Amino acid sequence: MQDKATELEQISKNVKTCRKCRLCETALNAVPGEGNINSEIVFIGEAPGQTEDETGRPFVGRAGKLLDKSLETIGKVRSDVWIGNIIKHRPPENRDPLPDELSACSPYLEMQLRAIKPKMIVTLGRFSMNFFYPEGKISRDKGNLVFTGKYYVYPIYHPAAALRNPTMMRDFMSDFKKIPENLEKAKKVNNLNTHSVTNPDGQLPLEL
Ligand code: URA
Repeated sequence: MQDKATELEQISKNVKTCRKCRLCETALNAVPGEGNINSEIVFIGEAPGQTEDETGRPFVGRAGKLLDKSLETIGKVRSDVWIGNIIKHRPPENRDPLPDELSACSPYLEMQLRAIKPKMIVTLGRFSMNFFYPEGKISRDKGNLVFTGKYYVYPIYHPAAALRNPTMMRDFMSDFKKIPENLEKAKKVNNLNTHSVTNPDGQLPLEL
């Protein structure tokens, strides 16, 4: 069996040569994701923007600066966590990804998550949250730990949305500060889960 680092390196290589959808034709660089592959928390955004496209790195533009600053408020730096996106090539003019682009690209993230095995996924914005559970509503679910049957997901607003709207910024910051306590919660329930303490139907409640 390949080790984790080799496996993730191979996925990154495959992302960089991917031609499964039209986005590779207009993008400058693929953005596979980066960071600590042993992190308990991963941050997942939607798709690369202009600066990410130019550099091949996730969240390095204005939204990324806010993410870095917010990480400091919980005593972390960027290299402590893993950061990625659902879509690995920038959609032209930052348009919404199309359904066929999502189905072409999402297996890469699924493979990355299977290798990293995070204890909690912080989704940045509606698109990322809905990838993990389509019935989610960002204004209702932000700041609430959700078990999807597969992952513990903690949805928060997208930092780019927070930069545009002061009310969203307030919520983004206060939800961000609660990441450590929600990670502890996810880990605790995860432990119970491994010891088969679940509801009679085998599922944990959606909202913990
Ligand atoms: N927005 C995203 O969703 N992802 C990035 O990498 C940058 C901005």
